Amino acid sequence: MADAYDLVVLGSGPGGYVAAIRGAQLGMRCAVVEKDPKFGGTCLHRGCIPTKALLHTADAFDEMRHADKIGIALDAAPRLDMDKVHAYKDGVVGKNAKGIEFLFRKNKIEGVHGMGRLVGPNDVSVTAPDGDTRVLHARHILIATGSVPRELPFAPTDGTRIVNSDHLLQRRTVPASLAVLGAGAVGCEFASVYAAFGSQVTILEQQPRLLPIEDEDASQALERSFRKRGIQSLTGARLTAVQPTDAGVDLQLTTASGEARSLSVEVLLVAVGRAPVAEGLGFEAQGIQLDRGYVRVNPFMQTRVPHIYAIGDVVNTPWLAHVASAEGILAAEHMHDPASARPLDYGRVPSCTYCAPEVASVGLTEAAARAAGHDVQIGSFPFTALGKAAILQRTEGFVKVVRSRTYDEILGVHIVGAHATDLIAEACVAMQVEATTEELFRTIHAHPTLSEAMMEAAHAAHGHSIHT
Ligand code: FAD
Repeated sequence: MADAYDLVVLGSGPGGYVAAIRGAQLGMRCAVVEKDPKFGGTCLHRGCIPTKALLHTADAFDEMRHADKIGIALDAAPRLDMDKVHAYKDGVVGKNAKGIEFLFRKNKIEGVHGMGRLVGPNDVSVTAPDGDTRVLHARHILIATGSVPRELPFAPTDGTRIVNSDHLLQRRTVPASLAVLGAGAVGCEFASVYAAFGSQVTILEQQPRLLPIEDEDASQALERSFRKRGIQSLTGARLTAVQPTDAGVDLQLTTASGEARSLSVEVLLVAVGRAPVAEGLGFEAQGIQLDRGYVRVNPFMQTRVPHIYAIGDVVNTPWLAHVASAEGILAAEHMHDPASARPLDYGRVPSCTYCAPEVASVGLTEAAARAAGHDVQIGSFPFTALGKAAILQRTEGFVKVVRSRTYDEILGVHIVGAHATDLIAEACVAMQVEATTEELFRTIHAHPTLSEAMMEAAHAAHGHSIHT
């Protein structure tokens, strides 16, 4: 006899475990199946959390190197101890993994370790690491199997010279030189970490700019800052051949101007995106449709089989932990009460890159707003004009507000600079409640804080920034 649940979730990443908690809060009996030894998914074990721990070390290391600027004399130059760097990172991950186990106990969610597969419209078989198999019977099933690093056929990873983000997070040594293929968030974050750790870093990006989905001004500001930090950006460059050698990897590329160029590095990081985990798990046999490898869903996250839902990286929505979690909550709420569930507005999802300086945005870029036919007015405010940024010695960057003159609507906000990824939350709330830019600048912001830049940029969007 199979075990009976209201909801069985396949995968314990930020999509799956959050959906199970929301389901349990709504009175469902939930189980979460996870093939890895620990719950938490990519985000906790190979993504958001460990990378941000490394970025924090990089940031602190950088601060210490410039400590004399704020009156702190160090007797010797600060030195990295990579074993301790990893111990700190792994400690943070371990603590969070225990937090998920606690939340499962608190919400009476059964965590089941093993490889899950759909074997019937309401049945998930789980093969435990010791080979034992059991079947979980469920009223609803949620697919949250996530994604894995995408491989390039002409540059297969070997874990030492050609690596992906999973490999680099485990690496105990700092390479003398690192080429990063792909200037998305993952590529820019690792470039930032390893430049601070002392590697000679080169970013290769086929698109004409770093972080191609961000506002053009943000990409340009980041490239300038990276240059100052010694990171070389080869944008518009196409990698044509990769040859592992005894010392590392030889790369052949065509630059933006069409020139052939070669580059030898110790390590090549391939950061060209993620591939969904949806093959070979019995999905199609149950009538679930895949589209270019992704599970197809409607705005309520239902697959073609209405009681089977899918969320997170395995569906074709932005590869972000907070998107996976929001989709998980939506799916659980829709299972519980379809009439009260509301689809997500993907136009209000914050996009954050935690490199130095940080980059964050929500809504439309200036170019997208103009292309959509809005009567656009821009307001920008530089961190150089901000007291708090001067105190922190972090005057790089700006806040840029894109507004529509028609209704004074906030169409988008783009931030480059210290704590951009925290500052963007204000813009997200403002857009969620459909605030105007006037409401943004009339909101009294504490002084001295970095958040004053948001208020000033909103003023600037009306032509009257106070401090510029
Ligand atoms: P995942 O987190 O991938 O979890 C899926 C889980 O399902 C995994 O644990 C997997 O083992 C399990 N699973 C798969 N198949 C089965 C099966 N058949 N049976 C049982 N279990 C199975 N996003 C952000 O928002 N902010 C960041 O700062 C950020 N940084 C990142 C840094 C890196 C280096 C990477 C790689 C990603 C980063 N992301 C970040 C993206 C984020 O990690 C993902 O968007 C998020 O983890 C997706 O969540 P998910 O629940 O869909 O899937």
